[in-house]
Amino acid sequence: MHDQKQALAEPQLSRLRREAAVQQDDKFVILPTRSRAHNSAMKLLVIEDEVKLAEYLRKGLSEAGYVVEVAHDGIDGLHLALEGDHDLLLLDGMLPGIDGLSLLAALRRTKQTPVLMLTARVGVEDRVLGLQTGADDYLLKPFAFSELVARIQGLLRRAGPRHEIEPTVLRLADLEVDLLRRKASRATQRLELTAKEFSLLTLLLRRQGEVLSRTELASQVWDMNFDSETNVVEVAIRRLRSKLDVPFDRPLLHTVRGMGYVLEDRPA
Ligand code: CA
Repeated sequence: MHDQKQALAEPQLSRLRREAAVQQDDKFVILPTRSRAHNSAMKLLVIEDEVKLAEYLRKGLSEAGYVVEVAHDGIDGLHLALEGDHDLLLLDGMLPGIDGLSLLAALRRTKQTPVLMLTARVGVEDRVLGLQTGADDYLLKPFAFSELVARIQGLLRRAGPRHEIEPTVLRLADLEVDLLRRKASRATQRLELTAKEFSLLTLLLRRQGEVLSRTELASQVWDMNFDSETNVVEVAIRRLRSKLDVPFDRPLLHTVRGMGYVLEDRPA
């Protein structure tokens, strides 16, 4: 078993790799400030000590098309929030290490990342205190997942032009993926995908033209550190290909031997 620090390091590494890859690709517009490429995913940091809830959020939000990092206590959470480049934080109020409000106060000294507080507290004073400390919105537990997503989208919209360009429908040739309705189609023909296949396709599509390694796919889609004994990625790619490409004339998903996979429309 690796310790938690190590488990947290992998998403950071893959993010650095990804950012490096994005900047090498002249198809993307590089803005002077750190900014996400048009098609790439919004990055969320979930700071929540209830492990089951944290995993539920990780899974649900990943499937909704976000890149999700999780911290289980205030200390790791603050560290990741300060070091990382997140589009939004989901912050639990009661946390071991550093509580939510103290974390928020520390964060706000240097960063204005939008923060959605998740809290079981219902007192008006607590809410006022949180908003004064710099929370952008509140959601009381327990909450409906659909409301959470709506609040996240609202905050990301408010956060500025960088987020307004986030498309909800991604396209490549005759492939269309609707992130909100979670539907994929080619030539208007619906593709029946599992949740994992949908996540895999979305990731490849957001980063179309870029070769993604098995390691990266495993860490992004399955949230696991790559174990060379497992062929989970290959199996999922095969299944995805059987639905995405086999019934159609023009393949979009290509294997790059020894490197990984790329989604692109290649000239015949
Ligand atoms: Ca808690």
